[in-house]
Amino acid sequence: MVGSYSPDVFSELLPVYYKRLFPYEPFYRWLSYGPDNTNTFANREMSFTLPGDVYIRYQSFDTIKDFEQEVQKKCPEKIDIGAVYNAKPKHNRMVSCFEVEEKELVFDIDMTDYDKVRTCCSGADICIKCWHLITIATTIIDTALRDDFGFEHRLWVFSGRRGVHCWVCDQTARVLTPNQRAHVAEYLQVLQNEDSNCKTARIPPEKMHPSIRRAVDIIAKDFVEVCVKGQNILGSVTGMKTVLKMLGDDSLRQLTEAAWEALPTDSQTSVDRWNALVAVLDKQQSNLKRWQRYLLEEIMLHFAYPRLDIEVSKGANHLLKSPFCVHPKTGKVCVPFNPLASRKFDPTAVPTLSDLIEEIQKFDAEKVKAGEEMYRKIKDYKKTSMYKGMQIFEEFLRNLEESWKSKKVKEEGMKIIFYLGSQNYNRSNIHAFHNFFFQKWSFRKGVRCRFSLES
Ligand SMILES: [Zn+2]
Repeated sequence: MVGSYSPDVFSELLPVYYKRLFPYEPFYRWLSYGPDNTNTFANREMSFTLPGDVYIRYQSFDTIKDFEQEVQKKCPEKIDIGAVYNAKPKHNRMVSCFEVEEKELVFDIDMTDYDKVRTCCSGADICIKCWHLITIATTIIDTALRDDFGFEHRLWVFSGRRGVHCWVCDQTARVLTPNQRAHVAEYLQVLQNEDSNCKTARIPPEKMHPSIRRAVDIIAKDFVEVCVKGQNILGSVTGMKTVLKMLGDDSLRQLTEAAWEALPTDSQTSVDRWNALVAVLDKQQSNLKRWQRYLLEEIMLHFAYPRLDIEVSKGANHLLKSPFCVHPKTGKVCVPFNPLASRKFDPTAVPTLSDLIEEIQKFDAEKVKAGEEMYRKIKDYKKTSMYKGMQIFEEFLRNLEESWKSKKVKEEGMKIIFYLGSQNYNRSNIHAFHNFFFQKWSFRKGVRCRFSLES
């Protein structure tokens, strides 16, 4: 049950959260990355934001106990996770060559970047209608990371207010150079600056890149519900004008306008206009110019393709808010969610700090005080609605731990390093990868091939 939350109680409830609910043990298991990586946790930069916007960078903790004690002592309003360095970040000034050794590949999708294509809310506000744009984004990015790059360990986390973060934790992702990170991020960054026709998506007419086709297919499933109906993109004069402009051609504009005007007065909704536009484009298929071949797909991409803050993904030393932080304004915990079921994830229903503490108290009052011994040792998060997010996190951890036991990591590494244009590829695989690689990269943005292959 989601009750009311007031930011006034944040400082009062946060110590309780850090004492009883923050999942220190699984958090440590994640950031240690297995028994072979003995310094990974100790060399990780953590940063705390303390009340009054006091920002402390380059903190590091030798053990999980140290981390837990410091978190409970300082009660940071926000914890950010940085990179793993070649030395302990707390000693950074004593090391002559202090540099990044590894860092998860991260993605940040924020609702505010959708302000131009959403009509229900703006700024920091979100509702379930515009949240579905984030759901589409999650599906597209998660599928591309899995199918195009072979990344298996992707942790998706609600950012506590109006966005999501993705942590790609495969070993191959963690050791990517900033340059390679930029290539992955740019590969996923399909939208460009608006052209004179207000369009941000341009598909080269010769052939649609398979990953764009897949994104279009994902969008198409929900486009009418989420954008045409939900965002009412053709429900206003401004919206209609924008889409007409995107057609980029006077005769097509006139035909569409005529089709809209011909709609009966009781059928003038955004959906009716969209259907009329689709019918016009269908009918005009053989008369369309070469550059108009993928007009409908470009319009759908414009309204629903993920807006990524790729600067966050590019930098290996970029800090990102840790999962399980609590957002001071909303009181909501940054809980992991399942990207495959992201449609079911409702950010407006994420329990707040007040709800969680109440849930613990209620559980204790009903079960523990009633003397039921079996409930006495139960972990506090299991008494609350944080349980579901924890189950997703535990499953992610189990898969990650499973991968440490196999040699899979190494093999995948060869594949990814090759994809990203490094010279360290396995030559025996060159032809198979060349085909894959060329196909993946050659049609994007009209660029023939991103990397030259040396044979
Ligand atoms: Zn909204």
